[in-house]
Amino acid sequence: MSTARIVRIALPLPKPRLFDYLCEQGAGLSVGLCARVPFGPGEKTGVIVALDPADAPPRDKLRPVREVLRELPPLPASWLALAEFAARYYQHPLGEVISTALPPGIRRAARLPREDDPILAATAAGRTALAASKRLTRALAAVSLVASAGPMRRGAMLTQLGGLPGAASEGLRDARNKGWLEVVAAASDITAFDVMSLNSEQAEAVAAVEAELGRFASFLLFGITGSGKTEVYLQLIAKTLARGQSALMLVPEIGLTPQLLERVAGRFPGARIVALHSGLADGARSRGFVQALQGEVDIVLGTRLSVFVPLARLGLIVVDEEHDASFKQQEGLRYSARDLAVWRARNESLPIVLGSATPSLETWLHADAGRYTRLTMGRRAVAESPPDTRIVDTRRIKLDQGLSPRLVAAIGARLERGEQSLIFLNRRGYAPVVACPSCDWISACEHCSANMVFHQADAILRCHHCGAESKVPRSCPTCGSHDVHAFGRGTQRLEERIGEYFPAARILRVDRDAIKTPAQWEVVRDQISAGEVDILVGTQMLAKGHDFPRLTLVGIVGADASLYSSDYRAPERLFQQLMQVAGRAGRAELPGEVLIQTGFAEHPLFLKLVGQDFPGFAAMQLAERRQAGFPPYSFHAVLRAEADALEQAMGFLAQAREQALAMNAPVRLFDPVPMRLVRRARLERAQLLVEADSRPALQGMLNNWTMVLHDMRVPRGVRWHLDVDPADL
Ligand code: ADP
Ligand code: ZN
Ligand code: ZN
Repeated sequence: MSTARIVRIALPLPKPRLFDYLCEQGAGLSVGLCARVPFGPGEKTGVIVALDPADAPPRDKLRPVREVLRELPPLPASWLALAEFAARYYQHPLGEVISTALPPGIRRAARLPREDDPILAATAAGRTALAASKRLTRALAAVSLVASAGPMRRGAMLTQLGGLPGAASEGLRDARNKGWLEVVAAASDITAFDVMSLNSEQAEAVAAVEAELGRFASFLLFGITGSGKTEVYLQLIAKTLARGQSALMLVPEIGLTPQLLERVAGRFPGARIVALHSGLADGARSRGFVQALQGEVDIVLGTRLSVFVPLARLGLIVVDEEHDASFKQQEGLRYSARDLAVWRARNESLPIVLGSATPSLETWLHADAGRYTRLTMGRRAVAESPPDTRIVDTRRIKLDQGLSPRLVAAIGARLERGEQSLIFLNRRGYAPVVACPSCDWISACEHCSANMVFHQADAILRCHHCGAESKVPRSCPTCGSHDVHAFGRGTQRLEERIGEYFPAARILRVDRDAIKTPAQWEVVRDQISAGEVDILVGTQMLAKGHDFPRLTLVGIVGADASLYSSDYRAPERLFQQLMQVAGRAGRAELPGEVLIQTGFAEHPLFLKLVGQDFPGFAAMQLAERRQAGFPPYSFHAVLRAEADALEQAMGFLAQAREQALAMNAPVRLFDPVPMRLVRRARLERAQLLVEADSRPALQGMLNNWTMVLHDMRVPRGVRWHLDVDPADL
């Protein structure tokens, strides 16, 4: 009897369909296995989602599977369920969800030999050699690490030893060859290490979550910066590992720092830890994925795509800085990793902790409604007073390049005391452009409806939307005047002006133009920590993540542009950003001061900021949103279209709207409108907003509409996509 079976496979393709193949060696097949199949002239690797489906075509019409990757365990049903949910919820082809979720090199990674990651300890010989030596060689550095910190996994040792990856592993190998290190116990023997005793707020938070281990529960850990949220996560992870389970911790793009990795690796020297982010090479990403699937990983620490890692024995999910915009993917499968994480936690019956000092209003409302348990931590873990926050009313004073005399004086005082200042510029609306005052010519981008931004360092104009570059014209292209120059207070101009006030100060600009790679950022952070900088000038990059103990002044400049933005989320984002940046002031023994320069001194947003009153701000914003019928009191999806000409995009949307109207669904269909940034990279863009009073109403409508849209004749050159729960309108 033949064992041949029909397999239905989800392939990584942008098509809303699955593909059937014949598998001759059908014995032992199961859903969730990966398979390599012929596709067109080439081949693809996908996931088996069904066996012998009733509606398959006759067997003789099917092409044979090339290979089933049997060395990989099948992806668990829960993983497929997550992918299917994402496909359904975000109205996206399952194949494309799978191509987002499945790392591209999985086939090769499945073949790799298992990595040797034993737990190592210092031998007596190692200790003797360490005591006798005058110089710390690489091998001795490895010995020294475990001699003081105790037995540790090889991977964790490499993280801690740092430096060039090759150098650390060479030193380790050397030490093992010399008999200075020995392999000790099994992974489960060692869980946590160097545990801090928790304060009462932390202890309550840990106890509340711990009580729910083993079943679904969602928590909002609302803790001010420095209140010890990370410590809470670590202790919860310890409790999860102690149950023989694994943990997933999602962090924002910018939050996955070597410091955090070291903190986790140092705490769990016996744990197998995988760090995943989009900057990783395919190989490394796949290896982490495969190891997790094989049950060889205890902790995954990663950015949004880690929500799809099939961790065996998953027992806890943590989403740190849950409000962070980087959890929402802005292209392809436009998913929210935070929202999928909550769904996953429910589906796999485990607790999830969403942590933030400034939660998203969606999450805050869930907590208000009792769907999430709110755990509040209002005190800093290391006792100190919150920064003294004050408003500098700029209506009655003359600003000098955006600087008030009060702020200048405050910077001067810091310089005298040898402390650091941070001048934070909210960049929105303040990027410098080149313009001609005689005829109003402005440096617009040829391809976008945006102005090109002036970059002084390389004296060019660059479009921040499409990347186009051009030289700064010597004379006005329209009227020929030679008086063209830069306007607007970019960070560069501000830096210059501060330099004129304080010629002896060491000033450092921190923005994406000055610092382009994580490695550069590392160097800069070390410089700041070492006190080699007096004044920092910068944007968002400075808001997050690191303690600078000598930083005692934060000045906020140019925040007003966001107050009256047409984006209803702008105040929420501004508040989050300013709270975060204010939290940079005075985190150690030196008290901090925050000065907010504004022409809207009575604006409630600033008043709440001065009072460090996030709950007050959230209540106020939620009241406004409710009044206006905005999310989270309504539910949005946006259909966007782009084409060479705006009329084409608008025409397509109008047609799509007609189809939607005919469905008579309980949703509100707005008129198609050009997007705020109409032109990008030579394409004209428009969008159509769909609004509903409930998620099921929106989902029901979208399910039908998506099918119609896929069948609709789309004019050539028009491309469209749906964005469910869009981050910007
Ligand atoms: P958050 O993540 O809320 O910003 P962290 O967990 O990073 O806070 O803690 C801030 C600082 O306080 C860190 O230096 C941390 O080591 C320290 N810390 C946290 N919890 C405690 C505790 N229970 N006892 C002593 N120090 C603590
Ligand atoms: Zn452009
Ligand atoms: Zn001109």
